[in-house]
Amino acid sequence: MRYNRPAMPTHPRAKQILFRVRRSPIQGKGVFAVRRIPKGTRIIEYAGERITPDEAARRYLEDDPGLPVLLFDLNKNTLIDAGRNGNDARFVNHSCEPNAETILEKARIYIEAIRDIEPGTEITYDYHLDAPRRERARLKKVYACRCGTASCRGTMLEPLRRRTRRRTPAKAARTKRRSPAPRASARTRR
Ligand SMILES: [Zn+2]
Repeated sequence: MRYNRPAMPTHPRAKQILFRVRRSPIQGKGVFAVRRIPKGTRIIEYAGERITPDEAARRYLEDDPGLPVLLFDLNKNTLIDAGRNGNDARFVNHSCEPNAETILEKARIYIEAIRDIEPGTEITYDYHLDAPRRERARLKKVYACRCGTASCRGTMLEPLRRRTRRRTPAKAARTKRRSPAPRASARTRR
């Protein structure tokens, strides 16, 4: 007995391809929508090896700083290195007027649409690059932004706001706030 393939997969949206990687006018390769991606869509996880800041410095500090940024801040002690075990998320370019953002959720980073993204449009997010104060002048140029948007700040570096602690530039995600779970708190005894 022969079976016909079903005309529609059980979950039609499950295997939809949202984007493809091709050369970008911003820089190198970029990620482009191949269909309309509605606002709020989780596009891809930012995959890569989990490493310590020291290991990140060892891997990248002495290297050519003009390399694409592959490091992503996960927490104080961990970065994601998309240079190893990474996926297409590492090709998503920075823009100062992005159409996506990065969300930190349960120790994973996801790229999500913050507007409806039309087919053919390059998917971008703001890298919020963190760099040490003493190296900002140099890195500002190394990580110059060519996004070409009206509000381009000229660099992928995050404007100075908080104390920097990292020796290697890394991307940073917003933390998605969930409803605060009830938790016990103790008064500190003096
Ligand atoms: Zn820009």
